[in-house]
Amino acid sequence: MKTTPLSTRRSVQIIFSGIVVFIGIRFYLFVSCLENGVLPEIERPAGVEAFLPISALVSLKHWLYTGIINSIHPSALVLFLIICATAVVTKKGFCSWVCPIGFLSEGAAKLNGMLLKKTLRLPAIFDVLLRSLKYLIAGFFIYQIFYKMSVSSIEQFIHSPYNQFADIKMLKFFKDMSTTAFIVIVVLICLTITIRNFWCRYLCPYGALLGIIGFLSLGRIHRQPSHCIDCGRCETVCPGNIDIRQKTWINSLECSTCMSCIETCPEKKVLGFKLVPGRKSLGAMAIAIFFVLIFTAGITTAGLSGHWKNNIPLQAYLQHATPDTAPSSKTLNHISPEKMQRMILMMNQFRAQNMQNLQKSNEAQK
Ligand code: SF4
Ligand code: SF4
Repeated sequence: MKTTPLSTRRSVQIIFSGIVVFIGIRFYLFVSCLENGVLPEIERPAGVEAFLPISALVSLKHWLYTGIINSIHPSALVLFLIICATAVVTKKGFCSWVCPIGFLSEGAAKLNGMLLKKTLRLPAIFDVLLRSLKYLIAGFFIYQIFYKMSVSSIEQFIHSPYNQFADIKMLKFFKDMSTTAFIVIVVLICLTITIRNFWCRYLCPYGALLGIIGFLSLGRIHRQPSHCIDCGRCETVCPGNIDIRQKTWINSLECSTCMSCIETCPEKKVLGFKLVPGRKSLGAMAIAIFFVLIFTAGITTAGLSGHWKNNIPLQAYLQHATPDTAPSSKTLNHISPEKMQRMILMMNQFRAQNMQNLQKSNEAQK
């Protein structure tokens, strides 16, 4: 079967989105058990921390200043570093090859094509103003965490119950959604259907950060002006609204290496993705392999070095999820005395470690 850049990219998006759905279901089951006062048999999937970007940024500062990868949400930092590393090679490639929101955004654009038959483009002035929003949001968090928070307050935040159980809070946000949050999400979905890539283009701070890192990326789309017939098809399909015909190298912060321009171009040798000027272009399969390899290698290394799973004991999760309820008799009957002893020991170690960390922070503050 002949593969195209789009079919290759779709396969990668489906694989990663499938993994995210799988993680989401497992985490939902994990939390449901806790809420029923039952210790879950299902292990908490560490990948859920991909959805804790603030915790990842806080952990990054902590790691840079202390050299320690904290054990509360280690995979948040690991995934953050992997995602940033992808931008060094593929610019915002993460957005169009891996991110499930990017995948849904493309689905919304398709829906737009079916319903409205016309992609709405905002006037240039609004487009520029709105595009700055995502940089402002990213800048706000970077400023607050890297400039305003001291290392000791970072440590306090990391070990605070708010951060420890941020994943459960995030799930509850979607499960028991308030009317305001529901309305905001519906408005965002409508805007994303009407204006192509609305969320990714104007609001996503992760995309903003990757765009900035990607500005220094080795990989870029190259256009061979001498062979270009100026048909403009590449610009019509470009989700980044980039003036491809004006450029030889696409350095734009908005390029997500989606390869739609390459696929659409009628002159097959005009556009290509190159890592090194003057060298052969890399195909979509090479990019697909890169994404699969970098995530697999990063997660495996983190797992082997003990920086993937967190060290929060199940009992602490249970206490957080059902603070007013004693564990049910079903739970207690289910647990062997040895397991109960191990859990109590882990709880005590966890508490002692937390106390030590807080004491260190307090001493550092004095
Ligand atoms: S320039 Fe090409 S690869 Fe970059 S976003 Fe536009 S269509 Fe995708
Ligand atoms: S689609 Fe290809 S030939 Fe047409 S303008 Fe774009 S780069 Fe040139």
